[in-house]
Amino acid sequence: MIADVVVIGGGLSGLASALQLSNSGADVILCEQNNQLGGRTYSFVDKTTGEVVNNGQHVLVGAYHNTIKYLELIGTRHLINVQKQFRLHFHHPTLGIHTFELGNLPKPFDVAVAMLKFKLLPINDRRKLLKVGLELNKWKDALTNKLSQLTVAEWLTTLGQSEKSRKYFWYPIVLSVMNEMPERASALLFARSLKQTFLGKKSDASFLIPKVGQTELYLTNAIRILNNNGVKILTGSKVNSLLIDNNKIVGVEGSSKIKSKYVVSAVPHWKLIDLLPQELLQHERFSVLKYFESSPIISVHLWYEKEVSVHTSGRIEFIGLIERNLQWVFNRRRLMGEEGKPSNYISAVISAAYDYINLPKDKIIEIALNELKDIFPRSEQTKLKHALVIKEKRATFSATNRVEPFRPESETAIQNFYLAGDWTNTGLPATIEGAISSGFKCAELIKNAG
Ligand SMILES: Cc1cc2nc3c(=O)[nH]c(=O)nc-3n(C[C@H](O)[C@H](O)[C@H](O)COP(=O)(O)OP(=O)(O)OC[C@H]3O[C@@H](n4cnc5c(N)ncnc54)[C@H](O)[C@@H]3O)c2cc1C
Repeated sequence: MIADVVVIGGGLSGLASALQLSNSGADVILCEQNNQLGGRTYSFVDKTTGEVVNNGQHVLVGAYHNTIKYLELIGTRHLINVQKQFRLHFHHPTLGIHTFELGNLPKPFDVAVAMLKFKLLPINDRRKLLKVGLELNKWKDALTNKLSQLTVAEWLTTLGQSEKSRKYFWYPIVLSVMNEMPERASALLFARSLKQTFLGKKSDASFLIPKVGQTELYLTNAIRILNNNGVKILTGSKVNSLLIDNNKIVGVEGSSKIKSKYVVSAVPHWKLIDLLPQELLQHERFSVLKYFESSPIISVHLWYEKEVSVHTSGRIEFIGLIERNLQWVFNRRRLMGEEGKPSNYISAVISAAYDYINLPKDKIIEIALNELKDIFPRSEQTKLKHALVIKEKRATFSATNRVEPFRPESETAIQNFYLAGDWTNTGLPATIEGAISSGFKCAELIKNAG
């Protein structure tokens, strides 16, 4: 087979790349080792309930500009609702529910007032939250240098954030944004994510809530467009090696050889190691791959016979839990606008789940049910119809400040060979936005190369 470009990997980074390349007329072959596309972002129909279940609850914000562009390109932008007012609820075991909510003031005053009104913290601690906002607002090169040396926990300590501020406010956010423990997570990536979300345009700080499962949102239409563009999508087609001649890529080899002018690798870091010839793994641009590690996420899906998530605070779509094992709990019925359905579908997430990933699934369900009893007392008396635990051992690369300097650029030491994927140097933690932007970037570089 012959193509202009081979894209290896049919996750969102590979799909974004194939989409942009084929839209501009390139002849593309997309090789995906699995029988389905989507990589770490997909949904499936649960056999017991017949419900569409996401492999993980993916949280999107308005600052995900490339993701929005991707959804516009494939025509599914209308399948997300934009939350009108940025609102985060937190549940504390004894202090109850408190809300961090951005009002209608212009930036950055909306953030400052929201911090001062966050009554879960004593007033002195709330005032100190402002220090973080001030630091981000006056971001200069010196701050980038400072942050690149620090973990999130260290950075927040330098800004005088009390233990309560860290545990009751910052850490639930850090775990969700970074999928890493605050004591390991890169301060630079976390601070940049905060700045992009809260100090950009007003619409950047809004949650984008999909009305459909991930496969329908990201994949179904993309596949249709790729087919229309003439892209050969080869699923169940693992690439085993790169064909390199005189330091120039000339194709890939799997079950057969595919010759091409350009190759985009859109596979995770640990898969790239398998693809590269031994001598190139010694090259300084690729030897850094050994520093990358992965961080796990556990999702728990629970179906109760009837509504359990009623709370005095009214309609809660999702809530952060403080001093619990579960970190964020989502009322899927409310998120999906399916409140009329008879059963209640709750999902819960444990990010950076190092301490939980090897527990038996029954034990994880037991932990979840116990904690939900305290938050939604009705759940204790309500029959549980079905429970499902999804463990993603390698959910994301571990976004530590140690690995951040080693994230590779799209262009590589091999001519016409490009790297995409959430782990490459996107400037973001491992996110859908990073994956899609890296795929777009490779497509742009290839288009410009001629
Ligand atoms: C449970 C969970 C929750 C998450 N939550 C969020 C969130 O809330 N917000 C957010 O923005 N992001 C979230 N993410 C991260 C997001 O899903 C990823 O950043 C994104 O999907 C990565 O896309 P990718 O294309 O870089 O990699 P992948 O999705 O891993 O795609 C790589 C593809 O390459 C294929 N492949 C590998 N090797 C080969 C080979 N040799 N030949 C052919 N094919 C190969 C793989 O099968 C895979 O399909 C979450 C991830 C998980 C798992």
